[in-house]
Amino acid sequence: MEDIKKIFGSCVFGDEVMKERLPEDIYLLLKAAIAEHKSIDNSIADTVADAMKDWAIEKGATHFTHWFQPMTDITAEKHDSFVSTDKSGKMILEFSGKELIKGEPDASSFPSGGLRATFEARGYTAWDPSSYAFVKDDTLCIPTAFCSYGGEALDQKTPLLRSMDAINKQALRIVRLFGMNDVKYINTMVGPEQEYFLVDKELYDKRPDLVFCGRTLIGAKPPKGQEMEDHYFGVIKPRVAAFMRDLDKKLWELGVMAKTEHNEAAPAQHELAPIFTNTNVAADNNQLTMEIMKKTAEEHGLVCLLHEKPFAGVNGSGKHNNWSLCTDTGINMLKPGKSASSNNLFLLTLAAVIKAVDEHQDLLRISVASAGNDLRLGAAEAPPAIISMYLGDELDSLLDSIIKGERHNDINKTNMTVGADVIPVIRKDNTDRNRTSPFAFTGNKFEFRMLGSSASISDANVMINTIVADAFCEFADILEKSTDFENDVKLLIRDTISNHKRIIFNGDGYSKSWEEEAKKRGLLNLTNTAVSLPYLSNKANIELFSRNGVFNETEVKCREEIRLENYCKTVHIEALTLSQMIKRDIIPAISAYTGSLCECICSKHNASADIDCSVEETLAKSLSSKNAELLRLTSELDGAVKKAKTITDVCECALFYHDTLLALMKQIRDISDKCELEVKREYWPYPTYDDLLFKI
Ligand code: ADP
Ligand code: MG
Repeated sequence: MEDIKKIFGSCVFGDEVMKERLPEDIYLLLKAAIAEHKSIDNSIADTVADAMKDWAIEKGATHFTHWFQPMTDITAEKHDSFVSTDKSGKMILEFSGKELIKGEPDASSFPSGGLRATFEARGYTAWDPSSYAFVKDDTLCIPTAFCSYGGEALDQKTPLLRSMDAINKQALRIVRLFGMNDVKYINTMVGPEQEYFLVDKELYDKRPDLVFCGRTLIGAKPPKGQEMEDHYFGVIKPRVAAFMRDLDKKLWELGVMAKTEHNEAAPAQHELAPIFTNTNVAADNNQLTMEIMKKTAEEHGLVCLLHEKPFAGVNGSGKHNNWSLCTDTGINMLKPGKSASSNNLFLLTLAAVIKAVDEHQDLLRISVASAGNDLRLGAAEAPPAIISMYLGDELDSLLDSIIKGERHNDINKTNMTVGADVIPVIRKDNTDRNRTSPFAFTGNKFEFRMLGSSASISDANVMINTIVADAFCEFADILEKSTDFENDVKLLIRDTISNHKRIIFNGDGYSKSWEEEAKKRGLLNLTNTAVSLPYLSNKANIELFSRNGVFNETEVKCREEIRLENYCKTVHIEALTLSQMIKRDIIPAISAYTGSLCECICSKHNASADIDCSVEETLAKSLSSKNAELLRLTSELDGAVKKAKTITDVCECALFYHDTLLALMKQIRDISDKCELEVKREYWPYPTYDDLLFKI
């Protein structure tokens, strides 16, 4: 392959290009604004736009677009060309500062919840200089925030940026207490590990469920699944390896630091992990990664499935959101350092996260709620729907001694009063053992493991940033008034940990007994999207978001509505697709095969009354009765689809989709999957799980 150094970031209008192409004063202004998330003086926009345009044209771009993330989990673009005319009517290539800063896509084509009725349909996109512009498909893409005329967020980026500002503001108050006066900005850093499946495009095209829903709605499990554990870290198949190489190259060009590519637990499942970066860039990069994965797969005759559960009974896909807090001076607040003072900073940060997660289990759960992810969470392959935290043995015993006010003698046998003076260096392999935990401390970061594979990582990080900001704020309010900081910070750490220790669970999150135990501890168990989303607009949550400047009440309510609507739409499409597949293809296939069995019985009878027909008779009877049941249940499903349309309250509607439609769909699937194993192969109308999972 070509020189990686040359490829890397070659399609990005990044720091080096800016330095080279912008006048020094403007470059420095822009760089400072980016580092500290400050708004830029619009007067520099013309110069930046001009430099961007020249660079982009050299890269082959003819168009530009404001690249944004409406509340659909995918990105949107509206392309304009650079072509313009000068006064004499001659064609020129132009891109103004105004065009860089602001765009006006029609907001009415994107989900906006109640906002559409209340506000003008027009929406605005606004340049986000903190995420670099890039050239993709001959188009200069400018990362932008998307909001309504009144400034309400209509996208995923705006709240993310607001939440980053919120946590920066409060974390700065905390580090100031520790005398760190040189820190100017505190960033949340994220490395999202992305799981996905690859299937053959030709086979994919034969499955309406994959095409319309991104997941299989029927399909019997193959005799071999992931039980042999031979896929993970197994040799990557040549076709997949070619895809991965190509993908890496394209991502590198776009400045995405794809680092690790390997097979995942399930057959045909893989993972890509980038190197962590600040949350805003990580979120943009993850969107790009998903888009480029899909495109590259198609070029290789493959389809990349990002759905959380494309195959029932086979491991689903998620994203591990590795999250930490870093100062611009290079200190990771979640790194257990060696000196007592920075240990207290670490412990206080840890306490803030513990408090935040315990107090806002609902918000974390909501942040990962979707129809797709419901099929995965709690299915003994992904964390349960119950939020808990895993800290590892060392940290756990340390916290234990803090609560008891005892010495902590595990590794460093130095004297301690409340156990907080010396923190053993947390070795990574000691903390990363429990894969069943939704929120695990892994050495110097937390890994939130409940995210779905297809969703933007924004929602989850908006929540983490906001709830931790809020905990920091409470801490800072107390400690800024303290006259004996050393003592008070220790007391605060101790009290916080003892008040919230119920959220810490080091056992097996997949086990049934944990459900019981969690209930005793009073932890929430929101098993599906329909029951969890209504928590979003609770009074306490609205207050939390507004005091941290992340969402106002209207925005919260709109988001709840959009996501519930989205849930209903998803299940609706799935129900329609299943009904069609069963009626058009499955029932006729079973009938045809049953018919052939009957013909066989007839011809045997005609040949001689003595020939045994019991096999054909048993099979024909079994299949006929199952087919009748399929028809009955599918009619019932059709009725339920109609009924769902009449329910006006969106919460009630979502519950109906969950309780009635999904339940019926499961019954239908069970019968269809049994038939699949009884019907002669050539009669079955769709590629099977064996074909899809094992034949790449
Ligand atoms: P795993 O064992 O889970 O694969 P890795 O060390 O490979 O762990 O990290 C997984 C992800 O976490 C990578 O994307 C990596 O860049 C990211 N990561 C590592 N350190 C940090 C950190 N301090 N903050 C945020 N993300 C991090
Ligand atoms: Mg991981």
